[in-house]
Amino acid sequence: MSYVPPSNLHGGAPAAGARRLPVARVLLIALALALAGVPLLPAFYVTLFNNIGLAALVVLGVVLLTGVAGMTSFGQAAFVGTGAYATAWIASASALPSWLAWAGGSPWFALLAGLLVTLCVAGLLGLLTLRLSGHYLPLGTIAWGIAVYYLFGTFQSLGGHNGLANLPALQLGPWALERGEQIFYLIWLLVLASGWALHNLLDSRSGRAIRALNGGQAMAASMGVDVFRAKLTAFLLAALLASLSGWLYVYTQRFVSPTPFGVNQGIDYLFMALIGGAGQLWGAVVGAGLFILAKDWLQDWLPRIFGETGNFEAIVFGVLIILVMHRAPTGVVGWLSQRLGLRNHAARSRAPGAPVAALPRRALPARGSTVLEVRGLTRRFGGLVANHDISLDLHAGEILAVIGPNGAGKSTLFNQLSCCDVPSAGEVRFHGRSVAGWSARQIAAAGLARTFQHVKLLPRMSVLENVTIGAHLRGSQGLARSMLRLDREEEARLLAEAQRQLDRVGLGALAHTEAGNLSLGQQRLLEIARALCADPSVLLLDEPAAGLRHAEKQALAALLGRLREEGMAVLLVEHDMDFVMGLVDRVVVVVFGEKIVEGLPAAVQSDPRVLEAYLGAST
Ligand code: ADP
Ligand code: MG
Repeated sequence: MSYVPPSNLHGGAPAAGARRLPVARVLLIALALALAGVPLLPAFYVTLFNNIGLAALVVLGVVLLTGVAGMTSFGQAAFVGTGAYATAWIASASALPSWLAWAGGSPWFALLAGLLVTLCVAGLLGLLTLRLSGHYLPLGTIAWGIAVYYLFGTFQSLGGHNGLANLPALQLGPWALERGEQIFYLIWLLVLASGWALHNLLDSRSGRAIRALNGGQAMAASMGVDVFRAKLTAFLLAALLASLSGWLYVYTQRFVSPTPFGVNQGIDYLFMALIGGAGQLWGAVVGAGLFILAKDWLQDWLPRIFGETGNFEAIVFGVLIILVMHRAPTGVVGWLSQRLGLRNHAARSRAPGAPVAALPRRALPARGSTVLEVRGLTRRFGGLVANHDISLDLHAGEILAVIGPNGAGKSTLFNQLSCCDVPSAGEVRFHGRSVAGWSARQIAAAGLARTFQHVKLLPRMSVLENVTIGAHLRGSQGLARSMLRLDREEEARLLAEAQRQLDRVGLGALAHTEAGNLSLGQQRLLEIARALCADPSVLLLDEPAAGLRHAEKQALAALLGRLREEGMAVLLVEHDMDFVMGLVDRVVVVVFGEKIVEGLPAAVQSDPRVLEAYLGAST
């Protein structure tokens, strides 16, 4: 693999890259100009922009859910419908039962009711579907999309398939927003406010937890992220944005029927996100805009070109979408920033320049005390016994190496020790407590941190942000405060800690580079910094020196030596015998899933059983 030093990427030093104009600013200016101009245009354009704003709200949620958190949903239109029908039902007043008559017509009550009903429905659906993996989740979203759509048409109190008409205009205090250009401002105010809140979220502790889902759930959980909660958060936020759009829809159209809330529309929202760029929030606005404008023009022009009426736009649209996916897989925003040489980062946290108070540290156990006891550990995969009856101890202030040929079962052992995998038999005790039934998150919270043999990081995220994920459990700021940017003090401390750990592993200067631009060796160092960010008492490193250059290996050995001095317990898998023998205190040799020898490095190295196993298995 040819490695391009990060400083040479993008044709300049990282500092020069950082000075490039952000695509977000260009788009914000373009949007501001468009929004200023639209009210001056004929009503038709105002309506078009209202529709774009309504869709953009939903697509912001799709970007969060699908682009950022990696969960594909075809069912967002159902949540728009939930918000819309709740609003219409309350706004029309006539359909309300007598005990709710007092609330009739109140837009705020309608909004609250819509959001609450959506929260309940989405919460229930989330509990049912978010644990599904692979294709099951998207299929589940189609199923609920269809079910909810038919539900709207079934209730006669909701107008059946004809819907509810003649709904009142939105009355905000003394102002009635009756015409399109009046509600235009409210729609776009809410789009911008939602975009701002989501931008803040993604640039925070809670947002990083959601973003971490895309780096693999085992990684996220091992960094202390509550994976299910992060998924549910993204799912509920997306549903609430859709519901908000439904509320606005009712007051814009003054009419609801089931038609716009079916799976077809849900697919359109997904396309909008893909066209704009599902990886960034601006993709929502750009995608919704392009989709709705293009659809309108095509509907207008294609029948004229073909000389007869028909749904030509559906065909042309299908081809266009395939083309966009082919030519611009990161969406129009990604394509644009590449073409114009603009900077395109989802969020860009920077470590604070001014000193901030360091995070509190965990008290390390007394040197020499047993931190990890493994007894009779066995892991079977069907007929394959990957670990058989392995026992070992790890002490505070010691480096223990697990060596063995490829496929010996070393990573399998690590996965069980870090509670990413469940043993078939045997027991693991961490600081004297059995970890049976623990989640990866629980053992991370108790002080175990790990790296992965196959690095698991977010290539489009900066190195600094990747490392900050490791400090997840050392912060406590939640969703609401993050969205309002009230978390900055804690955030500064988390980022400063990440920067400190990056400096420690020698990657400090690359903090603001995209992690995907690092060499494989540097990515391993990033993982070590991320693990150290958790302030662990036990560190599990799976082949940390693979891919490192000689000088980097020496620096890593020195770092591990210092950690040992501090009293940390380090368990590592490594193939480089020079690296292992000069550094570690004890060695455990595993062959075909069984521990065959344990002892001091020199003794192990000359043990005939080890020589035989190694030469026999690795040649
Ligand atoms: P090492 O890290 O020592 O190279 P591993 O622990 O990765 O070895 O693998 C040990 C054995 O277990 C290998 O034969 C591997 O194919 C098998 N194995 C590991 N994980 C799984 C799994 N999830 N399902 C089935 N087999 C597995
Ligand atoms: Mg391995």
